[in-house]
Amino acid sequence: MSGQDHQSPPQKRILVADDEPHIRRILATFLEASGFDVVEVVDGAAAMDQLQDTSHYDLALLDIMMPEHTGLEVLDFVRGLTHRKGLPVVILTAKGQDADREAAFRLGANDFLTKPFSPKKLLARIHDLIGIS
Ligand SMILES: [Mg+2]
Repeated sequence: MSGQDHQSPPQKRILVADDEPHIRRILATFLEASGFDVVEVVDGAAAMDQLQDTSHYDLALLDIMMPEHTGLEVLDFVRGLTHRKGLPVVILTAKGQDADREAAFRLGANDFLTKPFSPKKLLARIHDLIGIS
């Protein structure tokens, strides 16, 4: 037991799916600096591959406009996977797509953020969803 208090809790793992390299880089850099383990994918098909697999994820951030499959299609797919039933999903989208917001929540999104988003706000919502205080 000695030394246990000095161990860090296991890193929470986040899937970041966005086709824009600069957005991925901003998200990954920020989330890693905030203590998360980040896996980046560049399109909807790759996101589905990751989530269909049994590797552990604590949360997924899905851009809507991506090649292969949209973030909403990935969300719909994820909600059909028994082993991802409770996975928190945050949808990211460009400004002014109100129909997207409705569709995202109807498909079971836990949160919805419009780009450009405040990293602080994103982090607060991620902490809420993952249960970090
Ligand atoms: Mg995009």
